[in-house]
Amino acid sequence: MSEYEYDLVVIGGGSGGVRAARMSAGFGARVAIVEDRYWGGTCVNVGCVPKKLYYYASHFSEAFKDSRGFGWTGGERVFDWETLKGNRRTEIARLNGVYQKILAGANVEIIDGHGRILDPHRVDIDGKRQLSARHILIATGGWPHIPDFPGREHVISSNEVFDLPELPKTLVVVGGGYIAIEFAGIFNGLGVDTHQVYRGDVLLRHFDMSVREVITGEVARKGVQLALNSNVVEIEKTENGRLAVRLDGGRDIEADTVLYATGRKPNFQNLGLENVAVQLTARGTVDVDDYYQSSVPSIFALGDVIHTQELTPVALSEGMVLARHLFGGGAEPLNYDYIPTAVFSQPNIACVGLTEEKARATLGEISVFESNFTHMKNTLGGSESRTYMKILVERSSDRVVGMHMVGEDAGEIIQGFAAAMKAGITKTVLDSTLGIHPTAAEEFVTMREAAR
Ligand code: FAD
Ligand code: NDP
Repeated sequence: MSEYEYDLVVIGGGSGGVRAARMSAGFGARVAIVEDRYWGGTCVNVGCVPKKLYYYASHFSEAFKDSRGFGWTGGERVFDWETLKGNRRTEIARLNGVYQKILAGANVEIIDGHGRILDPHRVDIDGKRQLSARHILIATGGWPHIPDFPGREHVISSNEVFDLPELPKTLVVVGGGYIAIEFAGIFNGLGVDTHQVYRGDVLLRHFDMSVREVITGEVARKGVQLALNSNVVEIEKTENGRLAVRLDGGRDIEADTVLYATGRKPNFQNLGLENVAVQLTARGTVDVDDYYQSSVPSIFALGDVIHTQELTPVALSEGMVLARHLFGGGAEPLNYDYIPTAVFSQPNIACVGLTEEKARATLGEISVFESNFTHMKNTLGGSESRTYMKILVERSSDRVVGMHMVGEDAGEIIQGFAAAMKAGITKTVLDSTLGIHPTAAEEFVTMREAAR
């Protein structure tokens, strides 16, 4: 009989925690998982899933417009915010149940409550119960970070945006990253007068510069009013209950809602980290080794609390590696190369591999293949949106080291190429691949002349 009640206690029932718990139990470990807010975590409740549903909702306005060129006419279309919110809630409640069912089916003990670490082997649940564990996993995810400034109390984060009591007439979104771009696009598509304020001059730092330039142009073309090289200095409530947003150039925007999307930080709220000597990195994330072990040998951490890309598939993969490592007979560390990512901007962005800037800085000579064209649908639909694609090839090896796309369904298209890149695809193999005609994706296998 073990001296511990559990082999693993997981704090946090989100993407990484659920996967680690479920797989560990599958290997025969005695596992409990604690969740204090919502099963499925950020992704299911206030992240990927509701975001994508709202993204779909916002697309109809453009689809209705484009349909005219294809012969359709119709009466007035009215969008109802309450219907969208209600249907989203129902779907998310269904998913919450699915998550609990999966865990129960895997023989994981499900605990609703707040987990607080007491020492390297004990977790307190709301002061009512204590669990003893051979290993503890911190999978508590992230929380929106909003900088301090006068009027901060008037703004919301992505946590609140899904349930706004009313659809705003005017929205200001602050930030130029994933969340800011996605929500500016969503609300613009829903007919909201949308402003996006970003401190840089081109959106989406860390992405390929061509992609950044194309999307910055496309976001503006779709109707989002961009205030670049700008920051909010102050927000005041006006007499009519709206918000006066003052920008550093002296300009004011009067809005109903201000959404801050200025990054996220690990959620260590009342987690009891002060009770254990878990070391943090300079960025405030848990410092872990290749197998997610912290400076306290019995305590592990993964997902958004460590310094890797804050993406659900990353958290899921980390959870699987940890379960195999602890209970499944061993595992190779996760390979973080070629992680594909998509931004559900309008149009979509998707990328895998290196940016042109990184490829030039880290590899020898590279060839750049580029294509910028009008999607077939837009010929009759009338949208002026362009589709942009880029392939980066290392000349010495002929290996494809980066693929980037801005355009409809970019995420769906790049997913397959990500598998090919993992398998080491060369440009010669890409060139010998037949296209599927007529698609936008076939452009990736028909680019012959290097642009640079
Ligand atoms: P989480 O999923 O955040 O789970 C952590 C859980 O721990 C939460 O449920 C929390 O309530 C719980 N918890 C915290 N503290 C305690 C405690 N002390 N006791 C008990 N429970 C606790 N990623 C993508 O790949 N694609 C997308 O399209 C995408 N869209 C996103 C959109 C938005 C608006 C946001 C905010 C994020 C999005 N992400 C997306 C990122 C993705 O949601 C995260 O990377 C992912 O959820 C991280 O998983 P995790 O397990 O680390 O943490
Ligand atoms: P990001 O890091 O993507 O973007 C944060 C933005 O806020 C940047 O533009 C940054 O500017 C700006 N910013 C940061 N601090 C300040 C400040 N003090 N004042 C003004 N602007 C500031 O974070 P998000 O919050 O958008 O998203 C968090 C993470 O969640 C993402 O990084 C991503 O990993 C994940 N996510 C994934 C999605 C997907 O897969 N589709 C969708 C949504 C989220 P600067 O560029 O100058 O640093």
